[in-house]
Amino acid sequence: MSFPSDIEIAQINEHDNMKNIEEISSLLGLDTADIEPYGHFKAKISSNGIRKSMKQENGKLILVTSINPTPAGEGKSTVAIGLADAMQSIGEKTVLALREPSLGPVMGMKGGATGGGYAQVVPMEDINLHFTGDMHALTSATNTLAALIDNHLHQGNELNIDPRRIIWKRVLDINDRSLRNTVVGLGGPTSSIPREEHFEITVASELMAVLCLSQDLDDLKERIANILIAYTYDKKPVFVRDLNVEGAITMLLKDALKPNLVQTLENTPAIVHGGPFANIAHGCNSILATKLAMKLGDYAVTEAGFGADLGGEKFLDIVTPKLGHTPDAIVIVATVRALKYNGGQKLAELKSEDLNALTIGFKNLKRHVQNMRYYHIPVVVAINKFDTDTNNEIKLLRTLCEGLGVDVEVADIHHHGSKGGRELARMVVRATDKESSYTRLYDDAQTTVEKIDTIASEIYGANNVEYSRKAENQLKILKDNVWDDLPVCIAKTQYSLSDDPKRLGSPRDFTLHVKEIVPKLGAGFVVVLTGNVLTMPGLPKKPAALNMNIDNDGTISGLF
Ligand code: ADP
Repeated sequence: MSFPSDIEIAQINEHDNMKNIEEISSLLGLDTADIEPYGHFKAKISSNGIRKSMKQENGKLILVTSINPTPAGEGKSTVAIGLADAMQSIGEKTVLALREPSLGPVMGMKGGATGGGYAQVVPMEDINLHFTGDMHALTSATNTLAALIDNHLHQGNELNIDPRRIIWKRVLDINDRSLRNTVVGLGGPTSSIPREEHFEITVASELMAVLCLSQDLDDLKERIANILIAYTYDKKPVFVRDLNVEGAITMLLKDALKPNLVQTLENTPAIVHGGPFANIAHGCNSILATKLAMKLGDYAVTEAGFGADLGGEKFLDIVTPKLGHTPDAIVIVATVRALKYNGGQKLAELKSEDLNALTIGFKNLKRHVQNMRYYHIPVVVAINKFDTDTNNEIKLLRTLCEGLGVDVEVADIHHHGSKGGRELARMVVRATDKESSYTRLYDDAQTTVEKIDTIASEIYGANNVEYSRKAENQLKILKDNVWDDLPVCIAKTQYSLSDDPKRLGSPRDFTLHVKEIVPKLGAGFVVVLTGNVLTMPGLPKKPAALNMNIDNDGTISGLF
């Protein structure tokens, strides 16, 4: 019999083992006033609960990241969830902090973001679909702001906004390439001013980043007020505060700002909140979620999106300075399959042993280990075990890691839950006791070009950075407006360390192509778009949606 699908495992366990959310919150010392239940198994942590929790000491923080993703699968969320369960099972009070799934990948091809096998957060259907409505609130808030901007133009344009220089974009939480470039305001004088518009996916929006970086409602409002929305005809910046609508937009996000509490299949508390992608945004769950996980657990396990070159770097250079706590250990997830794929083995052949491809592909993991070592935090490699891995391959991968002097352990949690991850859990706990002296890769006071150069050469391995004419003009705008002292958030393909998705392994001596630079003054960083990365992805030829169904009892199938 074949191994059950993620949703089959989730449905059996949800039915048999899921605890009421009040029971989960009481494990954390939270009482009824501290949570706002959404049904029986989900809750928001209330303002009261947040205030109360923030008074506690911080536990230790473990950051889970990975090698570059491949079609062979890495299982970073699966390992983060399984690791938290395994730590809980060896007696360490552990709380997860994860991102919320977006409907884009759910309906597209990547799948959900609730883990897999016996390492999942539940209720998986709810979390992967509408959850507690945060994505919808963000979508509404972003589009409300867009409507207010267009209305301002229509009502006489007192601020002198140049419709060709509006940078605020509408969003949808789905991959919809047909809305990438469009025109709004058609239909004559009663239907506003015609102008070019571009939709992004909600998870790439600045409001998503702002929500994830805000500490409370006042901070959220201040950040929203500072968002740059357009330039005037004489090229002066226009901010949300000029429209005087920061109060209304903050109001729309009042509940979305509260972190969501759920549980794993093994009842480990999980705070799932905020969901920026790591290729086109900063890729980490909300600061509030990570802080709460540290306050409520002796250990917090959090995951940053895609490879360590994207989410890992952004967690360490953008988020960590705002957290007030640096990670105590970094776990890099790798699989034998993905490394062999990096080493040239074909997707269809990954089931067969290939020690040569593994040895060649190991250089991708080696680069990520070296990169994470820049930050002077203990690193552990977790080998996410697949059925098809042979003993020889696992043994070789261990030996290669030992050659690098990095701790390595197998995680067999997909098939066995916490039982398969206890050795890894012990190793990670030991790593958090080791000496660490967090060192940031760059200093905000450096120029934007210097910061991009540092990430490009140190993390990606580029020997040159080339700017489009548009990007060069935008660099000048940054300088003229004194917006040069912000961290940079590079948008880049997740598949390669370079900006070319086809260059697997450990590319070196290439040029990083910067095509656009967008100041996100509410989030407090500058987005640098490289290669052909898109902030509104498209759906694949056979979207995952084709396999999904629901019966008359409401039972869902095909959701992975
Ligand atoms: P990531 O976080 O790297 O995107 P996920 O943890 O979401 O990956 O896992 C993606 C898919 O791969 C899930 O459907 C999960 O069940 C599957 N998967 C992960 N680890 C394993 C494994 N060890 N064996 C089989 N399938 C796995």
